[in-house]
Amino acid sequence: MPAPLIAGNWKMNGLAADLGEARALAAALAETPAGTRVALCPPATLLARMADALAESAVLVGGQDCHSEHAGAFTGDVSAEMLADAGARLVIVGHSERRAAYGEDDAQVAAKALAALRAGLEPIICVGETLAQREAGAALEVVARQVRGSVPAGLGETAFAVAYEPVWAIGTGLTPTIEAIEAVHAAIRRTLVEALGAAGARAPILYGGSVKPANAAEILGAAEVGGALVGGASLKAADFLAIIRAA
Ligand code: PEP
Repeated sequence: MPAPLIAGNWKMNGLAADLGEARALAAALAETPAGTRVALCPPATLLARMADALAESAVLVGGQDCHSEHAGAFTGDVSAEMLADAGARLVIVGHSERRAAYGEDDAQVAAKALAALRAGLEPIICVGETLAQREAGAALEVVARQVRGSVPAGLGETAFAVAYEPVWAIGTGLTPTIEAIEAVHAAIRRTLVEALGAAGARAPILYGGSVKPANAAEILGAAEVGGALVGGASLKAADFLAIIRAA
């Protein structure tokens, strides 16, 4: 099994002045290395500067989204090749905020994951049910369907991760019970193995949704939880470090 991956998603937050948080994180990890892989995904405007600031560190830099094409007439979009050129090593695709706000479907997410592969980036492919779907008892079925549709077969031989992020837990302070997290992660694992065989057995399955220093150890200790995708608590080095140290 690969080392756990703890990835921070800054979303649409962060100006140049906030690079100090990334530097502080790198300095702390240089002094006392973590047994995990660590990544920060800043907004695209900060990516190159953050990659430069972290070049000598163990902290990887990632994008938050990419277009599926490598270049062209797509005003406002950024390709996987551009992210790689700016210093990214990973990219989040299919985040629920993009699925909800931009109507991204599983096929588009799969195309983005393939674009990441083409550019040499490690995709973090997000899936997760809404509250209505959970309350209807459909969480496992919804998430398995998203995994089947969003994880392309071509990823088999490359590094990738799946992030289980229940939509209702993102930014709300709510988290599923550990039993519920384990049930969904087990379903994701079964689906990945059915689709990809050995590669599906290896890929880390991250949990995301209101991970904080106070709940990180319990969540990261759950069965089949291979890391975390962290939003709000990744903005401050001290909080993010506490989560990394809990892994
Ligand atoms: C996220 O945006 O991926 C996320 C998990 O956010 P938060 O940790 O703030 O819930």
